[in-house]
Amino acid sequence: MRLFEAILNANHRAVAGDTSAGLHPAEFAASLPVIALTCVDPRLNAYFPNALALPAEQFIWLRNAGNLITGPLSSTMRSLALACAVKGGEEIAIIGHSDCQVAKTTTVVLLEKLQALGVDRSRLPDNLNEFFGTFGSERQNVIKACDWVRTSPLIGPKIPVHGLLLDLATGKLEWVVNGYQTLEMAASQPNRPAPSIGQPTDSLGGFNLGEMKFPETKIGELATRGQDWLTRKADAIGSQAQVAIHAAAPVVNTVVEPVELVVKQVAAFADKNWPKPPTLPPRKGPPAPLPPPIRPRAKLRRD
Ligand SMILES: [Zn+2]
Repeated sequence: MRLFEAILNANHRAVAGDTSAGLHPAEFAASLPVIALTCVDPRLNAYFPNALALPAEQFIWLRNAGNLITGPLSSTMRSLALACAVKGGEEIAIIGHSDCQVAKTTTVVLLEKLQALGVDRSRLPDNLNEFFGTFGSERQNVIKACDWVRTSPLIGPKIPVHGLLLDLATGKLEWVVNGYQTLEMAASQPNRPAPSIGQPTDSLGGFNLGEMKFPETKIGELATRGQDWLTRKADAIGSQAQVAIHAAAPVVNTVVEPVELVVKQVAAFADKNWPKPPTLPPRKGPPAPLPPPIRPRAKLRRD
């Protein structure tokens, strides 16, 4: 029996009145800790992690209004990715719940409530539904969130992504998306290319992606090192710099955009002055601050 099969089994037995129902976390050490995304509804506070029969230290809890995932690179997706990479999360569960007020609130009502709080309509996005991600069905919302997570390039292909619904009245969990079955189905299908943020890497123009190795370092330092590395690489290969940048994009995608601006200037200079070695044009002002890059998906030591 796999972890969430045992969790659902224990939950159903407990709801049926079996006071001995539970699971032994040590038997599922390879599947722990679990990352759960739930709604912010305070009524959930009493249920987690008890409803999953997990000890608190094996339960990484993310919350947002409506347990929403709005896209493969959304803010919550980044938290899920880091929870896997940095905190060693082994399985992901998107857990919706009954009587979700996000599902019950129409755009008109939401607008009224915001206006009652002094929020000016003219300063809100035109499409409130899209912006806040409001939805009508808790079940469909969980299915949609699981799809986003499963197809996100930020999540490893072997991480099971489950979808559950919690009944607030009883505490009973219902399995909406079985992440194990999703993985088994994917494994039985012909290989499909994994989703990628960057460009295809099959024409590298002599650029060796194997050189793309970052030393172990803190995430904040990685941005600066990544930028320096790419700039040096651009210096070395001149007009092939664009190819190199695109090859590196899936690995350091979040530092590529600002670096790409520098590289374009280097490439233009190199083309104009070849065979003279290219040099970087002087920068104007301080460099733009960089967002933290996505860490390569190595299995990291747990704290
Ligand atoms: Zn809710």
